[in-house]
Amino acid sequence: MCRHLGYLGREILLGELLLLPPRSLMRQSWAPEDMRGGGTVNADGFGVGWYTPTRPEPTRYRTVRPLWSDTVFASLAGTTSSGAVLAAVRSATVGMPVVETANAPFTDGEWLFSHNGRVDGWPVSLAGLAARLPTVDLMTLDAPTDSAVLWALVRDRLRAGVPPGDALAEVVAEVDAAAPRSRLNLMLTNGRQLAATTWDHALSVRHTGDGVLVSSEPIDDSPDWTALSDKQLVLATESTVDTESL
Ligand code: GLN
Repeated sequence: MCRHLGYLGREILLGELLLLPPRSLMRQSWAPEDMRGGGTVNADGFGVGWYTPTRPEPTRYRTVRPLWSDTVFASLAGTTSSGAVLAAVRSATVGMPVVETANAPFTDGEWLFSHNGRVDGWPVSLAGLAARLPTVDLMTLDAPTDSAVLWALVRDRLRAGVPPGDALAEVVAEVDAAAPRSRLNLMLTNGRQLAATTWDHALSVRHTGDGVLVSSEPIDDSPDWTALSDKQLVLATESTVDTESL
């Protein structure tokens, strides 16, 4: 079930954040330690979105190549630094296509979004919710996947001015009502604020003087990691972390 990671803090090379740590996202792409609900590796592609001081919109890189085999990204990651990153490695849910556009992070304006999990009974269970979206949104889905519909549901709320934490909480509640037993770990950032949910999947937080890391699995053996309990909403900035129950 995919792995994702969000970071807000001091500028860091993408490689130092995503490739070099002992239990980095790269290692999790071939040796994850806490897969739930099927899958053994996260080899169906990956995506990284990062912010730079020059503009509010993030830069995004996505591919179907596994993270461990992408030499182009490895070289880019050795010279590119950022203080705000959202990255994900993908294990496609059965029945969902392995295409570049199915990889998180999804983006709109200043936002980046990721889903770690699966909507039970997809696509039938989501049809009612999707039908209520404006046609233009359905036409512009990144891919025919549960995660892309979840993103459309979140994106509609952000465009309407709903705060990020509320947008995630509302979508989790709506989707859980339509498709109980779904795994809905969502993550959303605009480079300054980060919101994430735990809904039947793992998530850990590390908060140090350097910043805040929110990750499906700890990326190193530091004692600063805290495993979050289930059904929580995390709201973070580079210097604060708050959690509340969903
Ligand atoms: N269901 C989503 C997909 O197939 C996310 C997969 C996952 O978390 N493993 O893209």
